[in-house]
Amino acid sequence: MPSPARIRQSVRVPLHQGLGTVLQADLMTFTGLADVGEHLAVRLGPPAEVPLVRVHSECLTGEVFGSARCDCGPQLAEALRAIDDAGGVLLYLRQEGRGIGLYNKLDAYHLQQQGLDTYEANRALGLDDDLRDYAVAAQMLGALGHNEIDLLTNNPDKRDQLLRYGIKVRDTVSTGVFANPYNTGYLRAKVVRTSHTIQLKGSA
Ligand SMILES: [Zn+2]
Repeated sequence: MPSPARIRQSVRVPLHQGLGTVLQADLMTFTGLADVGEHLAVRLGPPAEVPLVRVHSECLTGEVFGSARCDCGPQLAEALRAIDDAGGVLLYLRQEGRGIGLYNKLDAYHLQQQGLDTYEANRALGLDDDLRDYAVAAQMLGALGHNEIDLLTNNPDKRDQLLRYGIKVRDTVSTGVFANPYNTGYLRAKVVRTSHTIQLKGSA
């Protein structure tokens, strides 16, 4: 079990979601997290006995610049809306590129242009497939008093890691798939390499 963390600050911020929609969010910061990243909790919607939780890793290229090489931007927007409906929290973890960092991620994109898939590219750079660790997510949930959650994910590893860290996952809610001509290879590699539960045309 990771050591306990505490809420450091909570501040109300309205979030534009396009088409005139504004979500009222509480952005929450923490002290005592297991790594030095400035991780953020975004609390939305009505109070819920069992909150809907999305553990979302930062993707600058997809979320800020709208990169079509992945589906992080639309996934983030979908998660914020779903959590605003159900009541819960989005944990925004500052672990770019599955934890390898922005520059390494762009190096991996360069290798993918030469035909490697996302996991082969990481290996060619001497990096693990996935450096993400969800201990801080469990710490944040503990600080928020959420020991039982519904988890918004297609990634079985997230559920397993949270269970290991003592968070009870009552239900797993699938996220949408936002395929486009540029990211189908990336999505397919996720399914084949990491048992993501994504339904793609032509995949088993
Ligand atoms: Zn992304």
